[in-house]
Order: sequence, then C-alpha cells, then structure tokens
Amino acid sequence: MSTEQARSARTEGEPLLSVENLRTSFYTDKEVIRAVDGISFDIFRGETVGIVGESGSGKSVTARSIMRLVEKPGRIENGRIMYDGEDLLDKSAKQMRSIRGGSIAMVFQDPLTSLNPVYTVGNQIKEALRLHRGLSGSKATKEAIELLEAVGIPDAHRRVREYPHQFSGGMRQRAVIAMALACDPELLICDEPTTALDVTIQAQILELLEELQEERDLGIMFITHDMGVIAEIADRVNVMYAGEIVESAPVVELFESPKHPYTQGLLNSIPGQGLDEDERLATIEGDVPTPNEDPTYCRFAPRCPKAFTECDTVHPEPVEVGDGTGRHRASCLLYPDDLPTEEAVAVHREGGQRGGDTR
Ligand code: ADP
Ligand code: MG
Repeated sequence: MSTEQARSARTEGEPLLSVENLRTSFYTDKEVIRAVDGISFDIFRGETVGIVGESGSGKSVTARSIMRLVEKPGRIENGRIMYDGEDLLDKSAKQMRSIRGGSIAMVFQDPLTSLNPVYTVGNQIKEALRLHRGLSGSKATKEAIELLEAVGIPDAHRRVREYPHQFSGGMRQRAVIAMALACDPELLICDEPTTALDVTIQAQILELLEELQEERDLGIMFITHDMGVIAEIADRVNVMYAGEIVESAPVVELFESPKHPYTQGLLNSIPGQGLDEDERLATIEGDVPTPNEDPTYCRFAPRCPKAFTECDTVHPEPVEVGDGTGRHRASCLLYPDDLPTEEAVAVHREGGQRGGDTR
C-alpha cells in the first residue's frame, strides 16, 4: 500500500477526536471576543492534524477548549468535543483531570511551563507514572529512564537525576514530551512546541514526534503559525483565521492547490516558493482582527486582494473545492468556482452547499 493509500485508509471509521461547531468566547468589560467561532474538525488515530494561522487566530484557545482549560472570562458556549464516543463538555472537573495528562496530553511552546524547577526531571516523570499508571519505586525509575531514552536524551541514567535548568532548551522539550508519553496518551496536542527552538533542534523534535507517532499510533494535533513546519509534520491541515477555519485539506493538496486567498497569502509569504523576491509578499498586510461581532461577513475581506462587495455582507460557508471527496473545503465566496459569482454567493447565502458538508 502506498503512503497515500495508508493515509486515506486511516481516516475511515470513527475519529479519535471530533470537534463539532465549537464556540469559545471571552466576556471582557469592553466586548465579547469570539475567539473560536464555530469550528469543526476530526483527528484520527495515527494522523497529524495541523492547525495553522497567524497569531491571534484562535489556535491556542482551540487547544485549551479541548482540554477544558479555558480561563475566565472565557466560556465554551456551543458545540461538542467528542472523544472516544463521549462529549468532553459533559465531563466533570474530576473526570477531566484524569483525561488530561492521561489519554490526552499537551505539549506547550515553553517547556518551562510544564516543568517544575525544584524537582528533578526524573521525579516529574515518575509522578506522572504514579498518577496515571500506578507505577512507583524502581519500576517507575526504570520506566522514566526508558522514556528519556525513547525521546532521544543521551545518558538517560544520569540525566534522570538532573533538574530542568541543567537541560538545554531542546532537551527540556524532549523531557516534556517524555512526561506526556508517561501516561501513554492516545492524543497529543502540541501548541507551537518548536517555536522557541532553533531550526536544527526544531527539525529533530519534529522527527522525534513522527517516530513516536508511528510507534504508538498517536493522534497528534499540531498548532503552529509556520507553514514550513506544517509541510514537515501534518497529514491534514486546518487553516484558521479570526476564530474560524477558512480552509481544510490534506497537506499535499493544500500546498499544491490552495484555494482560500488567506491560505494563498500564507504560502506566498514563506521563502522558497519559487517566486522572485518582489513577487512574493513579505507578509499579508495588516493584522488578524479581533472577532467581536457575529459572523455575518468575511473576516478576511479587509485584507483580501480578491474581496468584492458581497464579502462585507455574506458569511462564507465551507464548500467543497477538491475532487468531490469532501476532503478539501474552503470558506470563501469565490467558490464553488465553476459557478458564476452571483450563483456562488447564493450558495453561501443559503448556508453552504449540498455535499460540501457544512458542519
Ligand atoms: P493564537 O494561539 O492563534 O495566537 P489565541 O487562541 O491565543 O490565538 O487567541 C485568540 C484570541 O482570543 C486573541 O486574539 C484574543 O482576542 C482572545 N483571547 C485569548 N485569551 C484571552 C483572554 N484570557 N481574555 C480575553 N481574550 C482572550
Ligand atoms: Mg497560541
């Protein structure tokens, strides 16, 4: 079986995680910020789903919503987060504590947020082993050493007794990944885990995650603002903008045939796309707006080179833009592009297209 076939086979059956129409808002004194505004996506076992978008697009709030770690004044207002057939939004605080760091583990950008400076790395891994797998004593020590070896930390026998400050940045992030694996998770949520690292170390960590995924059949949700990292790691990609998913596709298709003007802009602004220096945009001009109004228009329109009048008054719904299998969708009034603009806009006015799966 080719890799491509193996990948499509993987996405059959029940997803490991299914986020359905999730909305998370922050109620500040000034306004209601719809940080995550009605997003839906799936993650299957053994696949890496990328979430990409500029800073402020709602990626971290998505991760924190899944983990039920949204802090005040934030509130999950709508949607379902189906995991293993059950809605995480129905779980008690106690049930969530055992799921977090148990079957779902998270790795953050800064490893120091997950490591306690006053305990050795080994003791922190052993604590996770005790809590989630009931291991203690020499069994736990042995397992901690094996985990450090599994994430490529050399001389693990000695390093298990060291403190976080004795580790380099890259080694710390490896230690955090070892801690996450201590609970034998099925789903790993990584929020910009390599952003603080230099490119060589970043490449090593990405490689490590791929190896671990293969060995353990992990589902990985990988958040980054970096399209280059997405190209390295993701099987499927969701592009986020101002709280919404504006395009989703298998990674190769997204890079070969990006449909949403925002995705096109993100791709044009990364180096090495075969464009001349002055042909490519350094960045897309402007910033991500704060989503503080109902979605009754396209939030990207003010920055969009292809925007037209209706973009200010009609909300784009996800429509099929690929080969008809529903795996490539974009939320943009330019599509479906086999229809005259007026008819395409009507599809969005009516709430999306049949067969385009408008969840
Ligand atoms: P990303 O991870 O994509 O950079 P975030 O998910 O962190 O973006 O944030 C999305 C938006 O949610 C932010 O631009 C901000 O407006 C809002 N937000 C996030 N956390 C808070 C908070 N604690 N209070 C108020 N607004 C918040
Ligand atoms: Mg973030």
